[in-house]
Amino acid sequence: MPSETVPPAGYFDDGLSISDPEVAAALNAEKLRQQDQIELIASENLVSRATLEALGSVITNKTVEGYPGRRYYGGAEHADRIENLAIERARRLFQCGYANVQPHSGSQANLAVYLATLQPGDTVLSMDLSSGGHLSHGSSANISGKWMNTVGYGLDPDTGRIDMGSVRRLALEHRPKLVIAGGSAYPLTIDFAAFRRIADEVDATLLVDMAHFAGLVAGGVHPSPIPHAHVVTATTYKNLRGARGGIILAGDAEYGKRFNRAVFPGVQGSVILNAVAAKAVCFREAMRPEFAEYASRVLENARALAAALNARNLDVVGGGTDTPIVLLDLRDLDLTGAAASDALEAAGLTANKNGVPGDTQPPTITSGLRFGSSAGTARGFRTAQFERIGHMIADVLEDMSGSTDRTEALRAEVGEMCRDHPIYW
Ligand SMILES: *Cc1c(COP(=O)(O)O)cnc(C)c1O
Repeated sequence: MPSETVPPAGYFDDGLSISDPEVAAALNAEKLRQQDQIELIASENLVSRATLEALGSVITNKTVEGYPGRRYYGGAEHADRIENLAIERARRLFQCGYANVQPHSGSQANLAVYLATLQPGDTVLSMDLSSGGHLSHGSSANISGKWMNTVGYGLDPDTGRIDMGSVRRLALEHRPKLVIAGGSAYPLTIDFAAFRRIADEVDATLLVDMAHFAGLVAGGVHPSPIPHAHVVTATTYKNLRGARGGIILAGDAEYGKRFNRAVFPGVQGSVILNAVAAKAVCFREAMRPEFAEYASRVLENARALAAALNARNLDVVGGGTDTPIVLLDLRDLDLTGAAASDALEAAGLTANKNGVPGDTQPPTITSGLRFGSSAGTARGFRTAQFERIGHMIADVLEDMSGSTDRTEALRAEVGEMCRDHPIYW
């Protein structure tokens, strides 16, 4: 081989469309999909151009292990600067003494908390998956459920709220080492102080997983769990509107230190530095007044969606929402979540099937739908659009055998709403 082939011609200069048209085509099609449909999946959002740039930056070439100032490899000066920026911004944003910005995902953040606070076989008290809990909180299919003993609490069937009386009874009966508040499909405010009192009563650690409302906390429109929990985890890519990844926070800097060892070398190796750079960008964006406005609109919009669904006599779990999440129980309509989400997708409304309290359908089918307002709000939708979306959803669900004309008409209206609020142009 002649030496000019390393690096190959264009290696440092050619873009993806030249060097790999197949992947480029799929990515471009995905961009068009995002532009042209209404994203109602609660775990998704739309990041800024600046975040995309940080994610696609040369810091991806750098390998570091450990923490700023104490790395195992040299050449880490700029990596340290980036991680320190992310840490300092996270601490300022959430007003807490400790932040770890390295977790590769929310599940990794939770696993690190497990490692730091539990021994295999210890008991964890967390929300049932069927009531809106998360896989990483003790599902039997996840390491958290395989290696720990999980006791699940549920919701009061009349109010759709966490039944705090049963949380306390279960805590006193099972003496968990770790109590987890927060889930993937729980729309209402959690009484963090009551959880802390129960955790203290049985000498347990309280973890609040705020993956789905971290942006509202950052924007000041939702109570912060930081003053109440021993430790708080979150994802950065849902309501916080940043790159994919997780964080661990603690009010007390000294207490928080134990999670450093748990993340590295406990459950992770080297740092995904481009993700950390993107988290730093996200935290700075979230400190600006525009983000407070974004957060308050996310909440307003979720409530407008819930109100429209209620007005059409659909069964909104909990009656409404204090978060970006709106959960719909489809059992009155005799519909499954799987069929309903397919029908909505055909109309350009992307949402996910989701279990509802007391659901007897398997997780692949379910009897519910979960919606979120974070992504739609990011592209500029206001309450008028979310109300309309609520009625479009109701139209589809009320007549699932709807004609192709109806579907086409909705699809066209969705396309128009999207063109009025373009993204990544
Ligand atoms: C989304 C979510 C997570 C996990 O996130 P991944 O990044 O997918 O690992 C953890 N906890 C809760 C409550 C979540 O909603």
